[in-house]
Amino acid sequence: MRFSGKNVLVTGASRGIGAQIAKTLAAEGLKVWINYRSAEEQALKVKAEIEEAGGEAQTIGFDVSDESAFVAALKSIVESDGELNYLVNNAGITKDKLAMRMKSEEFMAVIEANLKSAFVGCREALKVMGKKRFGAVVNVASIVGETGNAGQSNYAASKGGMIAMTKSFALEAAPRGVRYNALTPGFVATDMTAVLKDEIKEGFISKIPLSRFAEPSEVAEAVAFLLSDHASYITGETLRVNGGMLM
Ligand code: NAP
Repeated sequence: MRFSGKNVLVTGASRGIGAQIAKTLAAEGLKVWINYRSAEEQALKVKAEIEEAGGEAQTIGFDVSDESAFVAALKSIVESDGELNYLVNNAGITKDKLAMRMKSEEFMAVIEANLKSAFVGCREALKVMGKKRFGAVVNVASIVGETGNAGQSNYAASKGGMIAMTKSFALEAAPRGVRYNALTPGFVATDMTAVLKDEIKEGFISKIPLSRFAEPSEVAEAVAFLLSDHASYITGETLRVNGGMLM
């Protein structure tokens, strides 16, 4: 196992990539705090699966775009466990529309949910982890934050912002012994991509050298690596997990 006796908060872990990250990290020896926004039942299912496999997990419901709720949740984790060792800012949404038709409120809603929430998580984690001179954070961004995508000016801005913000945190946190890295998945088989029409999916697959979408477990493995001591000299990096779609 890559970890032992430490804990992690994974945001947006009731389903999709986040749920798999939670399971993988628990299997690697971390106590996992499973965050969800509304899907408590699904979060409890993830917790039960982790416990059945011999791991440790707790659920914690809050909306990551609600700053005071996020701060309070981190405080309650530290009160319960005495520390927070790792954070994965995974929760994210899309609200796609062509830019010419997108209202600024629709733009800002995605910035708040994806980027501002990750900022709050990164900032609060640094306060806690910096005191112990130990910790690591992974921000789940997207290939779209590097390439842009038609219909996703809000999402692309939020994910590009996460990549740049991660580097700034890495610089500020390095003297405090805390590492920050970003991960940019390409297309992953989850609810987020299940809504795409088949011809759109096929169009994307034709541009992926490995000729398929990723499984959530393939993203989760990369997150586990970046958090672990195997990546002890890696900070401020953007790790691409995209099947070769962008090199
Ligand atoms: P998903 O299947 O839509 O799941 C999203 C998760 O985030 C759910 O657990 C949801 O919780 C949670 N969530 C959303 N907004 C939240 C909020 N405000 N507060 C707390 N939790 C919230 O998405 P996914 O495909 O697993 O994506 C996970 C991350 O990977 C996202 O950041 C996404 O942008 C990124 N990503 C995905 C892909 C892809 O192809 N799927 C590619 C690149 C990057 P509830 O169930 O409670 O709503």
